[in-house]
Amino acid sequence: MRPHNFSAGPSILPQEVMQQMSEALIEYGGTGLSILELSHRGELIEAMMEEAHSLVRELLQLPDNYGVAFLSGGATTQFALIPCNMLKNGGKAAYIDTGTWSTKAIANAKFYGDVDVVASSESESFVRVPKDYKVPQDASYFYVTSNNTIYGTQLHETPDSGSVPKVIDMSSDIFAKPFDASEYGLIFASAQKNVGPAGTTLVIVDQELLGKTGRTMPPMFDYQLHIKKRSALNTPPVLAIFGCLLTLRWIKKQGLANIETINKTKASLLYKEIDRNSMLYGKAVKEDRSIMNATFLLNDPALESTFLNMAQEANIVGIKGHRSVGGFRASMYNALSIESVKALIEVMQEFEHKYA
Ligand SMILES: *Cc1c(COP(=O)(O)O)cnc(C)c1O
Repeated sequence: MRPHNFSAGPSILPQEVMQQMSEALIEYGGTGLSILELSHRGELIEAMMEEAHSLVRELLQLPDNYGVAFLSGGATTQFALIPCNMLKNGGKAAYIDTGTWSTKAIANAKFYGDVDVVASSESESFVRVPKDYKVPQDASYFYVTSNNTIYGTQLHETPDSGSVPKVIDMSSDIFAKPFDASEYGLIFASAQKNVGPAGTTLVIVDQELLGKTGRTMPPMFDYQLHIKKRSALNTPPVLAIFGCLLTLRWIKKQGLANIETINKTKASLLYKEIDRNSMLYGKAVKEDRSIMNATFLLNDPALESTFLNMAQEANIVGIKGHRSVGGFRASMYNALSIESVKALIEVMQEFEHKYA
């Protein structure tokens, strides 16, 4: 039996996506060749890329002024490309620091201008998402992370930034629920949590916000060019984008509203057990808990390896917490079934039964 895969990323993908990817690896589109061998300038791959871009547009109901690109270099590269493309020369950008990923984004932005960290939950080990802050209205943009994969916190409301465009890192919760994309000037997400395999990053941007920094840059850094060249400014990671396309088709078939319902059901089942179980406690504050990544600790840390072994015996993998937080983290991305969550809950109950 396939293990219950709770990994934080690279994460679980729908079975049918992996099946179809493996078929395309051998032979694609009646060509007799692998998808890996086909030119990215050929009709077949161009059509595949086109469908991936248009499915993103359709699923998020993007207004016409938004551009879509599948880029390389991970979300981490966007930490630098965002200020490069959007932080006005000599200007500043506002950031919220909600832990590791936003901390890295802040460090990258400093290469391009002043950074105003308007709020941070660092003094509380990032167990919450700060809500009390004011965004300076002369900032080029306001940057937030929607889901803090490592800490298990999530933004549950659209932040208020006045007239300053919002930039959001949705690497670990894009397509987990419907949301109003037009609220954001730029949305980005590395693929390997909820969109597909590692190797590509989705960037969605209101093109009216681009080309205004007064800065010149090499072509490969330029969002406008990537959008214009339909993500094929250089050789794109075709297989990774194909994996995204298959996942996007799967998402469309399920429906985003339905996916949200299932994700909420999974999260509420697991958090209910975390709160009930006398051996465990949740790490993030309740109001900011993530529906994607649940972090929890044992009251008795000496039993951690015992718990991990019990989970392993139940065919559960990927629940060890991030090294900076410790304890455990159960990631419940779209493709994880309710049955997998129930299997983890059973282990928690058995653990309490044995050791309480
Ligand atoms: C995983 C992750 C990243 C980093 O993605 P890479 O593709 O490895 O660069 C950035 N932000 C968030 C929120 C993440 O979960």
